[in-house]
Amino acid sequence: MRNNFWSFNYIVRRFKEEAGIWHKVEEKSEYKTSRECPLCRSEGTRKRRGLFYCRKCQKTMNADVVGVLNTARNDGSIISSPS
Ligand SMILES: [Zn+2]
Repeated sequence: MRNNFWSFNYIVRRFKEEAGIWHKVEEKSEYKTSRECPLCRSEGTRKRRGLFYCRKCQKTMNADVVGVLNTARNDGSIISSPS
C-alpha cells in the first residue's frame, strides 16, 4: 500500500507561505468550477470522470484544468483559446 507523503493541508500551507510573500493568496471552493467551458462559457459534459467535453468548441479538457481556468477567469484573468 502506498501512502501519500504530501498532505493537502501541508501543501496549501507551504504554498501560502511561499507564494504569499509576493502575491495575495486566497483559497476558493472548487464547487461548480468545471461545469462550463472556460473558452466559450457554454455548459459542458463529462466524457468520463475527470474529462470535460465542450460540444460547441469540440474540445476535451482535463476537468481540473477547466476548474482552474474558470476560477482564474472569474477573478479577472483573460483565458485565450489554444487554437
Ligand atoms: Zn467551449
